[in-house]
Amino acid sequence: MDVERNARAQVIYREVNQRIRSLQESFGTPASIQVMCECGRGCNEHVFVEAAEYDRVRQQSTYFLVGPEHHAPEVDRVVEDHGSWLLVEAVGVAADIARNGFVN
Ligand SMILES: [Zn+2]
Repeated sequence: MDVERNARAQVIYREVNQRIRSLQESFGTPASIQVMCECGRGCNEHVFVEAAEYDRVRQQSTYFLVGPEHHAPEVDRVVEDHGSWLLVEAVGVAADIARNGFVN
């Protein structure tokens, strides 16, 4: 696995999800939202999550939301298992990229 490439993809998916989140906010305050899985491996799966939970994940720059079997030990570790989604934390170089975005 190309860890750096994967980490950069995760940052892009996070950006996409932030746009989804703010768009949904503009239609009112939804209880739950549908976002993209943030595993960063060419995945098109959706994750349903409570808006408050989504916002909580975003408080931490190294946290990502992924589908149930979408974490990879090379790039992240599972922090919480919510059944339909996992809260994972980027580790190592993936964590640096998650914090800094597109720094080369
Ligand atoms: Zn995925």
